[in-house]
Amino acid sequence: MAVSDPIRLSLYVHVPFCASKCLYCDFYSVPLGRGDAADGSAVPVIEQTIAQLDRFLAQAPAVRFETVYVGGGTPSVLPTALLGRLLGRLADLGPSEWTVEANPESLDRAFLDICGQAGVTRLSVGLQSMDDRLLAVLGRPGTAADNLRAIEFLGQAWNGDTSFDLIAGIPGQSREGMIADGETVVRTGSGHASLYSLTVEPDTPLAGFVRSGSVALNKRDHDDELWLEGRAALEGAGLHQYEVSNFARPGKECQHNLRYWRLEPYLGIGPGAVSTLPANLTKALTDIGEHAGVIRLSNPRDISTFLSRATGLAGTPWGIETEVVPASSFVLETLMMGLRLVDGICAESFRRRFGQDLDRLAPGVWERWVEQGLASSEAGTLRLTDRGLLLLDSLLGELAGALRADGLPAITVRWPD
Ligand code: SF4
Repeated sequence: MAVSDPIRLSLYVHVPFCASKCLYCDFYSVPLGRGDAADGSAVPVIEQTIAQLDRFLAQAPAVRFETVYVGGGTPSVLPTALLGRLLGRLADLGPSEWTVEANPESLDRAFLDICGQAGVTRLSVGLQSMDDRLLAVLGRPGTAADNLRAIEFLGQAWNGDTSFDLIAGIPGQSREGMIADGETVVRTGSGHASLYSLTVEPDTPLAGFVRSGSVALNKRDHDDELWLEGRAALEGAGLHQYEVSNFARPGKECQHNLRYWRLEPYLGIGPGAVSTLPANLTKALTDIGEHAGVIRLSNPRDISTFLSRATGLAGTPWGIETEVVPASSFVLETLMMGLRLVDGICAESFRRRFGQDLDRLAPGVWERWVEQGLASSEAGTLRLTDRGLLLLDSLLGELAGALRADGLPAITVRWPD
């Protein structure tokens, strides 16, 4: 990178509102009312979110946002004028890829018009299932009919890219139903799909129902089979798996998420959003910029704190929490994120970032996995095999243990690399 080149970043915008709260969700979001009530809650939040971006751009050295992702929450529930205000401001950034998340029941003509006019390139739509019984188990705000209507509407009225989310492992889900859901997504002709395994997060209402016995989870083997059937339906139609839960036709991979999994620097704005930035950029948002290395900034997961602390008169602006990411943690994060990718991690990038090979930091671990058929180091990449990816969590645990061992060489981080 030449000295005068702008620093390449991604931007994540968190819209912390939804129509209602799904039973399995642990993202930070709150239900948004309608009409004046919606404006009253959402306007200050969106204005302060834009203020975060404005402050960052005014104070940071030259940066260029390669990708923008507006997620949440559910951006499509924002009142039309407010969505227009937010996307109009983001349009000035001119990213090469720009995704906005939407839910089927709130996807209408006004939403598509605003996204189209602003220059959004991709819509990511959360279908989750095409079965009303399963949508009810998840507490989703919409129905299977809403999902079908949204698919049809997008086919007629949206010229950009799309992605559809599905969930495998919903209590009561059948193998046939999972296959049919995969086929529904395939029939849309979309270039991208996400297939998540349902995780019952501890503090969600769904976890309470499971504990009380009113919802019975499927057997583990059945859930594994559901996910594999979903994958087969997607891959059979040319959507290749490129990450643990993500599938795309060639060239349609989500560039924003690829940058995120490769741990390239990103700015997060809005309540609950997180940034991972080089130290020289953090002052632009927090007044704190004395640290070296990699810094994580976290906006509060609470709208009132975010708004009441916006001025920074009582601490950091917007109540942002600042954390220096130690070099050894950053190594582990790089591995945790990068090994989720089917193409793995570029060994040369790893060496550039940390000044040494993985084998010096975790002696013998990778070689052992290669011998066991769990990993491969071909063509200058460190990647897990199909079998290794299924064991990702336990392999990462092993790496974490190795990275904590005494006597490892000192790590210096060069980032962005
Ligand atoms: S729509 Fe998405 S973000 Fe909102 S409550 Fe449901 S799962 Fe959570």
